[in-house]
Amino acid sequence: MTGPKQVGRREILAAARELAEQGECSPRVGRDPVNEPMINNWTEALGDRNSAYPAVAPPAMIQVWTMGGLHPERSDDDPIGRMIEVLDAAGYTSVVATNSEQTYHRLLKPGERLSVTSHLADVAGPKQTALGEGYFVTTHNTWWSGDEAVGEMDWRILKFKPRPKPGVSVPPMVSRDTAFFWEGTRGNELRIQQCAACGALRHPPGPMCPRCNALDPTYTVSSGLGEVYSYVVHHHPQVPGKRTPFVIALVELEEGVRMLGELLDVDPEQVKVGLPVRVRFVPSGEFTLPAWEAR
Ligand code: ZN
Repeated sequence: MTGPKQVGRREILAAARELAEQGECSPRVGRDPVNEPMINNWTEALGDRNSAYPAVAPPAMIQVWTMGGLHPERSDDDPIGRMIEVLDAAGYTSVVATNSEQTYHRLLKPGERLSVTSHLADVAGPKQTALGEGYFVTTHNTWWSGDEAVGEMDWRILKFKPRPKPGVSVPPMVSRDTAFFWEGTRGNELRIQQCAACGALRHPPGPMCPRCNALDPTYTVSSGLGEVYSYVVHHHPQVPGKRTPFVIALVELEEGVRMLGELLDVDPEQVKVGLPVRVRFVPSGEFTLPAWEAR
């Protein structure tokens, strides 16, 4: 074969080693300091009524404070951008985030301005996955307030060669917090995370109870009955394996929590807020997704 130089496993792993050895990239400073309006928007959107906010920021917001906006600029020494270029050149052109793990060292207060640095922690592959052959790329981010490290994140993506197969959809993200949920759907059980300390229900799952801050949650099994709280009719863009338009509904379950899913077998014109629905489990690759049907 002639043409441009082939980028293979050896070149990928050599580039990964070189980038990892560069260590920490130069800091990128957040556009705005930690601020109350953003905290209020976030906690309202998530329905988190913890009275500690907005005097302090929810720890899980940490990424927000250094987001690059609509037109982010990567610094020249950002190892992630370079690693992605190498994998793109080798044909691993698709990407899916697989998991992230955040560690918070302390609570942040409005007025603090954060910066973030990152280094390439690990590149592993090639691995055969349900999506296709790919490399797992792990980066480690550190957030700084002045010269104090206030939070960290391991972030893993899969860069893969897309399979030319119709109907492949991206699997949901499974983490330590959500594994119980996907185990449930596999057995046609809709599970809602429940605080073992105060009994509060919450969805989506997370590590800490927003009411009493307890860790080590358990779960309860939902009746699967609820009503449409809000919905969107998806016309565009096309989604692999789906015919548009389709309806994605935010359903308020009898137990009081809200959950997203596709609303099946309903004319988009007929959907309305308050429509009574029940859960239906839809196998999709390795996962079983909860969806809704009218009742
Ligand atoms: Zn609780």
